[in-house]
Amino acid sequence: MSRCDIIDPMTDSPTIPSPVLGKNPDFRAEVAIVGAGLVGGTLACALAGYGIKTIVIDRINPSAMVLPAFDGRASAVALSARRFLTAIGLWDHVTGHNEPIREIRVSDGQSPFFLHYDHADVGNEPLGFMAENRRLRAAIAARMQGLGSSLIIVAPATVAGMSQSADDITLTLDDGRKVTASLAVSAEGRDAKLRTLAGIGVTGWTYPQVAIVATIGHARPHDGIAHEHFLPAGPFAILPLPDEDGVHRSSLVWTERAEAAAGYLALPEDAFLAEIDARVGGFLGALSLIGPRFSHPLGLQFAAQYSAGRLLLAGDAAHGIHPIAGQGLNLGFRDVAALTEIIVDAKQLGLDLAHPEGTARYARWRRSDNLVMAGVTDVLNRLFSNDITPLRLARDAGLGVVNRITPLKKVLMRHAMGTVGDLPRLMRGENLR
Ligand SMILES: Cc1cc2nc3c(=O)[nH]c(=O)nc-3n(C[C@H](O)[C@H](O)[C@H](O)COP(=O)(O)OP(=O)(O)OC[C@H]3O[C@@H](n4cnc5c(N)ncnc54)[C@H](O)[C@@H]3O)c2cc1C
Repeated sequence: MSRCDIIDPMTDSPTIPSPVLGKNPDFRAEVAIVGAGLVGGTLACALAGYGIKTIVIDRINPSAMVLPAFDGRASAVALSARRFLTAIGLWDHVTGHNEPIREIRVSDGQSPFFLHYDHADVGNEPLGFMAENRRLRAAIAARMQGLGSSLIIVAPATVAGMSQSADDITLTLDDGRKVTASLAVSAEGRDAKLRTLAGIGVTGWTYPQVAIVATIGHARPHDGIAHEHFLPAGPFAILPLPDEDGVHRSSLVWTERAEAAAGYLALPEDAFLAEIDARVGGFLGALSLIGPRFSHPLGLQFAAQYSAGRLLLAGDAAHGIHPIAGQGLNLGFRDVAALTEIIVDAKQLGLDLAHPEGTARYARWRRSDNLVMAGVTDVLNRLFSNDITPLRLARDAGLGVVNRITPLKKVLMRHAMGTVGDLPRLMRGENLR
């Protein structure tokens, strides 16, 4: 075994050593996770933290994942997801690197109607927290340091094959090494290889939209307010980030028509900022661009099954949704919290970790919740991303009406906070042991 360096995003220097970077010919674990992204990495931390012998495999060296140029997005982490991340020891590493969302303002084009959510209407806690993905990835890397021999990271390595027997599942890496486990989880993202190998189909479509992502600096503070401004091309979101080096910052998710996005992305910096300024509307004062611009093609996809024998799907491998409501990763965190509960319970009871009742429960539990959110985000995007007059009038009237019905607003806020529904115990603030 050799060690690998994970780059500290604060200094871009190789300072955080990974626990173990496996180079053994073959490995054996209780659970094998394919994908060390935000979902797979979090699952690895959660399971290893409960003493489950875990192997996580990724084709990308974790040291590359924390660099600012790797992933420029920031994620809205719902309150329930933050509770879960705290319970598994990850959130401590995000302290000081997140911004509480205290209010959300939703507006539509030039309409005078808007929807305003204020956390004070539902309690003392924020509606959610904005955290840059590089900070979440660095938190995963830091947490992995404390997990000792419960966790092995195999990277860079690509899983190319899979076979199952009555007792275990074996993954074959592209260099011929094998990883054998009682249970495997594909957290491989949208193009999941194991999903295809298991013969699990996906339903879905692409949206004629691209998300342009950038971090901006601004002269005036954001006051913890997240703005979602609906424009004909799609939602334009301005999401509060913590100040850095004395600069007020926000994360932009600018949804644009696919055919226009490349032109905007290629603009010189001044012209790009002028386009942003025109959409922001001046309330943040003078703007500056911090770091590179990123683009993400958008689409919806949904796996036909979440389990196939000893293989389970989690995160974007199971469901990829429109970022309009900032819920994709939150659904992934709920998958991880549910899986952790089911696997830890099985281990305590001395059961096979892939016992059929457990895998069936996971699939039933998470599929229905994820399907509802996929549907809601799809409808919202279709309803708001256009300039069709009757639709515009109807939705603006809807915003105005909902804004006046406080009980309804409270229900919607609790959904955004992720505190309603059939939540895994770790998201309800309970422990598993
Ligand atoms: C613009 C935008 C903004 C968003 N904002 C939010 C938000 O505010 N809140 C929110 O909740 N969600 C948000 N999301 C959604 C969220 O980013 C995704 O749901 C989440 O990143 C998915 O993580 P994942 O770990 O499932 O997949 P991925 O990030 O795709 O990770 C998959 C990992 O698996 C590895 N891998 C794949 N195949 C193999 C293989 N065969 N062998 C080895 N390794 C493999 C890859 O290298 C990768 O590291 C947003 C999405 C977009 C596009």
